[in-house]
Amino acid sequence: MTLRNRLGQRFLPYGANYLDWHDMHELREAIGHGVLFRYQTEDESLASRLERHVAERLGAAHVLAVHNCTEALRLALISSRPRTGALVHIPAVTFVAVAGAVLSSGLIPVLVDVDESLALDATLLPPDTERVIVAHMEGAAAPVPEGIPYVVEDCAQALGARLPDGRHVGTAGYAGTFSFHHNKVLTSGEGGLLVTGDPAAWATMRGYHDHGSARVPGRYPTWNPDAHYGENLVTSEGVAAVQLQQFRHLDELLDGLERHHDLAMGALPARTDLQVLPRAAGDVKISLRFRCESRELRDAAVTALTAHGIANWTLGKYLLPEHPVLTGRRSLYADGFPWSLAPDGPLALSRDGFARTRDLLDRTLCVPLSPELSEQDRILAVKTLRQVLETV
Ligand SMILES: *Cc1c(COP(=O)(O)O)cnc(C)c1O
Repeated sequence: MTLRNRLGQRFLPYGANYLDWHDMHELREAIGHGVLFRYQTEDESLASRLERHVAERLGAAHVLAVHNCTEALRLALISSRPRTGALVHIPAVTFVAVAGAVLSSGLIPVLVDVDESLALDATLLPPDTERVIVAHMEGAAAPVPEGIPYVVEDCAQALGARLPDGRHVGTAGYAGTFSFHHNKVLTSGEGGLLVTGDPAAWATMRGYHDHGSARVPGRYPTWNPDAHYGENLVTSEGVAAVQLQQFRHLDELLDGLERHHDLAMGALPARTDLQVLPRAAGDVKISLRFRCESRELRDAAVTALTAHGIANWTLGKYLLPEHPVLTGRRSLYADGFPWSLAPDGPLALSRDGFARTRDLLDRTLCVPLSPELSEQDRILAVKTLRQVLETV
């Protein structure tokens, strides 16, 4: 019997959907309006309400709802008006969507090695760096480098996390991007948000996301004389309604994770061979991160946890220097665009060819924390975890 079955609840932070008809009044409202297109509503649309609400909650000046975080990343990059083939520095350890967003924008990703905390090591960036994406992985707020014109914060895995100075992740750089995919802090199945402090950038993003138009709600798209081409990344009222509903639970979710984390940190023994890494105060406590003495010990822990039905994951999947799209410079374009524009030589910055990072990932193990458990169940979950780890 797995822990999940025994507790009758999910023991996962992600996909904690709070989906319950009694709680879905924004969705009922959207259906009641009889209009699911955000620019067809008479009053403030649910999408605009969501953007306003997120701006207040995160302390962001401007917010734009889009289809997903990958599109938000692309939009952030394109709005900075790069040359095609321009370099974008990205972390060597992150989800491949980051590289995909760079490439599909006609830009070239350069993989930058990470530090012990698995955050992009800004000391490796060349002084003339123009564009960098930092990723706040697994709820951990990564440092946001200064003095670079376009820093995009990928907050797909870190909605609600704060930087050491108290600002929310996503609000410190040129732009921040968020995901509402099923496997994220809050979810509407799919969904994305883009935030920026720059009003001109926001206007550019808004135009591009709606066919290059300067849309006035209720009217056929209107075009400015200086309009540029765009795409359609406009969100729907139904999705915005679910996101508004999800946002109502953000504080409760963050508190639940915090409590589970505190209990675990208090109960797990201090072991040097299987160390729980401390998390910063501002992190979203999505998981416990363990650093093992050896890969063998890590693999033994994975086997034991899995056998007892305790969810866990490793991070090797995020090692982009080994991803086939990057190693093979793959593209659907006949001429290999945009790789065809890439400079010769390796597109990577690492002191040791990513050897230390590979070793760190091989010895890292994550055990998710759950925002949804009752106090009693949290105590039971921590106790079970402790007992299982004692066997390895
Ligand atoms: C999930 C994820 C994305 C992509 O988000 P989507 O909304 O699924 O497009 C980007 N970056 C990171 C780090 C992610 O985890």
